[in-house]
Amino acid sequence: MKVLVTGGAGYIGSACVQEWAEQGHQVTVIDNLSKGHRAAVHPDAQFIKACLSQAERIESILRQEKPEIVTHFAASALVNESMERPGRYFENNVANGLNLLEACVRSGVRKIVFSSTCSVYGIPDQLPITESAPLNPINPYGESKLLFERILRWYREVHGLHFVSFRYFNACGATDRYGEDHQPETHLIPNLLKVVLGQSDRCEIYGTDYPTLDGTCVRDYIHVKDLASSHVLAGLSDLEGVHNLGTGKGHSVLEILAACETVTGTIIASRKRPRRPGDPPELVAAPSAALADRNWQPAFTEIERIVETAWLWHKNHPKGYDDRP
Ligand code: UDP
Repeated sequence: MKVLVTGGAGYIGSACVQEWAEQGHQVTVIDNLSKGHRAAVHPDAQFIKACLSQAERIESILRQEKPEIVTHFAASALVNESMERPGRYFENNVANGLNLLEACVRSGVRKIVFSSTCSVYGIPDQLPITESAPLNPINPYGESKLLFERILRWYREVHGLHFVSFRYFNACGATDRYGEDHQPETHLIPNLLKVVLGQSDRCEIYGTDYPTLDGTCVRDYIHVKDLASSHVLAGLSDLEGVHNLGTGKGHSVLEILAACETVTGTIIASRKRPRRPGDPPELVAAPSAALADRNWQPAFTEIERIVETAWLWHKNHPKGYDDRP
């Protein structure tokens, strides 16, 4: 199968490219390297440095490569930043994404698999969250992803472009090759592991007065390899529409801190801070029933096993991708 992956040099994209490549598919990666890393692109994939804002270039790449499947990861993806710079989120995640969709239609792509997010639900009134829950994003990031999901429905209706939209819960962990390296790092597990590596003095705990068991936010942490395998399944099967990607289990920030301490054998210094704008108290998935029907389940269900993979990667790459040739 010929597959094109946008954002294939990023954290989740690189894991997905690895999965496609290891299953023997022919992969082309498009990434503008604004956040991604060239060293995170699997050696068997063809790499093209391009930005989705370049409509004509994107169309000519797709016409030349003629992929059957597109997996679309390229996006701005930080809740906090989206509360400061909403325009960037609508431009990058919606307007630039439209350039990709037009190119897909004109070059005969059969199906697109899209990285959406549980941020589309906002503050859920019921847990776990099913795909039919109300859609009320409370930050521009979630709103931009929801807009794109709605656009995808119209492209299917009008142009017959099939789509799967995966609403990720919290991606975490690492493959044997690729891990999480953001500049600046804002995610919980890498920030905790940075303390263990002596790269920061302490981890900030954003909000300790939430209406949860221990007052900190609860999230559903899903391994990046599970995200990758579900994308390949979506590309190869008849799966359609919108699906949650989570484990169905929630962990508080303090539970994640404890898991990182157990796995690393180190006490991790932390400091209580005010809530971070745009963070809902608790997000836990009702995992997609359609994926379960296709015998797909997360391989990683224990938080310590997930953290172990992240720890192994960070230990081996203390400077992230900077220590690669
Ligand atoms: N968080 C935290 N300290 C950090 C990073 C994150 O307390 O250094 C909290 C954050 O407020 C949220 C949870 O950990 O409740 C997960 O945040 P992350 O940024 O990893 O993922 P998000 O939920 O924003 O996608």
